[in-house]
Amino acid sequence: MAGYNFACKSIGMDCGFEFRAASSKAEALEHVVAHAKNAHQITTITPDLAKKVDAAIRQ
Ligand SMILES: [Zn+2]
Repeated sequence: MAGYNFACKSIGMDCGFEFRAASSKAEALEHVVAHAKNAHQITTITPDLAKKVDAAIRQ
């Protein structure tokens, strides 16, 4: 089954957060945004960060 995977450390964070098998890239991004807010107090996703996250989400 295809899915979208993301590991926080792949964007340079010292963090063990990761998830697998989000059903779409939009769902994957939602997970990342929620995690960034809860765990890293990142409430604004800058274009630069969005680019990094986008590149780090693997199918
Ligand atoms: Zn993290």
